[in-house]
Amino acid sequence: MKIAIVGQGLSGASLLRSLIEYAPKSFNYQITVYDPSDQLASGFAYQNDSGIPLMNTAVRALSCQLNNSQDLKEWLLVHHPHEANPNNFIPRLIYGQYLNQAYTKYYQLENIITLREEVLTCKKQEKGYLLTTSKSKDTFDVVFLALGHPPYADYYNLYGCEGYIHNPYPLSQTLNQLNPKHSVGIIGSGLTAIDIARTLKHDYNWESIIRFYIQDQPFHTVAMPNNFTDIIRNINEDWLFEQNLPLSLGCLVDQFKQDMLANHIDLHYITRNFSKGTHRSIRQQLAADDIQLSKLQRYLWDLNPILPQLYNALLPSERIKYHKKYSQFIKHIKSQMPRKSLCEIYQWFDSGEVDFISGLKKISTGQEKFLITTNHQEFHEVQLINATGFQHRIDLAPYLPPLIKQLWDDKLISPHPSHGLQVSYPSSQVVSIDKGLIPNLFLIGPWIDGVLLTSNDANITIRHAHRVGQNFWHKNIRL
Ligand SMILES: Cc1cc2nc3c(=O)[nH]c(=O)nc-3n(C[C@H](O)[C@H](O)[C@H](O)COP(=O)(O)OP(=O)(O)OC[C@H]3O[C@@H](n4cnc5c(N)ncnc54)[C@H](O)[C@@H]3O)c2cc1C
Repeated sequence: MKIAIVGQGLSGASLLRSLIEYAPKSFNYQITVYDPSDQLASGFAYQNDSGIPLMNTAVRALSCQLNNSQDLKEWLLVHHPHEANPNNFIPRLIYGQYLNQAYTKYYQLENIITLREEVLTCKKQEKGYLLTTSKSKDTFDVVFLALGHPPYADYYNLYGCEGYIHNPYPLSQTLNQLNPKHSVGIIGSGLTAIDIARTLKHDYNWESIIRFYIQDQPFHTVAMPNNFTDIIRNINEDWLFEQNLPLSLGCLVDQFKQDMLANHIDLHYITRNFSKGTHRSIRQQLAADDIQLSKLQRYLWDLNPILPQLYNALLPSERIKYHKKYSQFIKHIKSQMPRKSLCEIYQWFDSGEVDFISGLKKISTGQEKFLITTNHQEFHEVQLINATGFQHRIDLAPYLPPLIKQLWDDKLISPHPSHGLQVSYPSSQVVSIDKGLIPNLFLIGPWIDGVLLTSNDANITIRHAHRVGQNFWHKNIRL
C-alpha cells in the first residue's frame, strides 16, 4: 500500500508514528512524506526561531509520549535542567527541539521516504490520488493531509501593504524589517502579540513605543501555579462510556457543576472576578494567586484531552447551544498567559514603553502611514504587525495555499459550519458537501479546529493524530 503524508509538523509526525506503530505485522506498505520545510515535527509553532516566545501550556501537559506523561520533564532534566519543572512554561524553541528528537527515528525507517517538496495538487483518480509538486508526480492509495494552519486573518484589508507584516513568524526574520526609529503597532494582544513585544524588547532592545490596538479587553487569564494532586474530576472517558449517546448537554453541565462543588470552586465567584480580562483583573491575578481560579484552570487542563470526544458525543443542536452559552467562558479560563510574560508587559506598560489602545474600529492606509481609528481617537503608525490569529473561514481568507485552493475548486473539501474544514470524527476522513465522505483522504491539524472544538493545542494534536493512525489500520484490517 502506498501512503502519502503531506506535512511533517506535529500532526504529520504524530500520525507517522501512529501508522508505523499500529501497522499490521508483515503488511507491506510505504509512506512518502512531503514537506518543503526541513523542520521535523516542530512545524510552524515550534520552529527554529527566537528563544523568547514561551509555551502557553505547562510542561506537565506537553509530553509527546502518550504512555509517559513525564517524558518532557525527563528530557528537560537531561537537556535543560533549569526548565524541568512541571508547572514551567518553556520556550517554544526548546519544545521544538524535544519534538524533533522524539520523532526523528520514525523518518529513518526503510519504508519511509521524505521529499522536501510542497504538494501543489491532489487529484482524485479512479483508484487513489495523484500528488503533484513542482518537481515530481506520484500516485498513492491513501493520502493524509497535515497541512498546518489556515492563513492569517486580514480583518482590515492590509494584506500586501507596505509597512504591514501579515504573518509575524518566524519573528527572527520578520522583525528585522522594522525601523527602530519608529513606533510599532500590533493589532491584537493575544499570545502572538505578546511574543512580538517580548521578542522586540529582549532580542532587539527595542526603545520606541509599542502599541497594542485592541477592540475590547486585553487578555484572558493569568496561568496560576497549580500543583494540585487532589482535583476531583468525574468527567472522564469512563464517565462518557456510561452515558447514553448522544450525550445530553444538560447532563454534562450538571456533572461539571457537581465537580465544581466537590472542588469548592464557586462559579459565581469566578464569573464575578475573572470572566473579563480587564487590566484590573489581570493585575489582581498577578498580585496574588487565586486558589479557586487555580483549581478551575487545572480542572480544565486535565479535562482538555477528552474535550473533542465530549463535544462530538453531543447532538449538533446541543453543540450550537454549547457555543452560545458556555464556550466563551471555558475558552477564556483555558486561554492562560504565562505569568512571566504578563509581568514584563505590565512593567513596560507602567513605564510607558508599551501602550494598549482599545476601541479599535478601523484601519485605513494613506500617504505611507496607517490611520487607526478607535472609538475615541485616531492614531498613525508607519509599521503595523498582524496578531489577530488565523482565518478559519476558508471563504474569507486573504489567499489560499495552492493545494487547499485546488481541493476546494474540485469540491473535495467543504467548510465546517463554524470553523475550518469538515471531516468525520474520530477518523478524520474528509467530508465534502457535494460528494460525501471522500475515500482514503484524511485531514488533521488546525484546519479541523471546528470538529475538535477549536482546541487544537499540542496535546490534542498529538492525541488526535495518534487516534487517526490507529483507526486507519483498524478499519483496513477489518476489510
Ligand atoms: C504561534 C503558535 C504558538 C502555539 N503555541 C502553542 C502552545 O504554547 N501550546 C500548545 O499546546 N499549542 C500551541 N500551538 C498549537 C500548535 O499549532 C499545534 O500544537 C501544532 O503545532 C499544529 O501542528 P501541525 O503539524 O498540524 O501544523 P504545522 O506545525 O503548521 O505543520 C504543518 C506542516 O505542513 C507543511 N505543509 C503545509 N502545506 C504543505 C503542502 N502543500 N505540501 C507539503 N507540506 C505542506 C508545512 O510546511 C508544515 O511543516 C501554537 C500554535 C501556533 C501557531
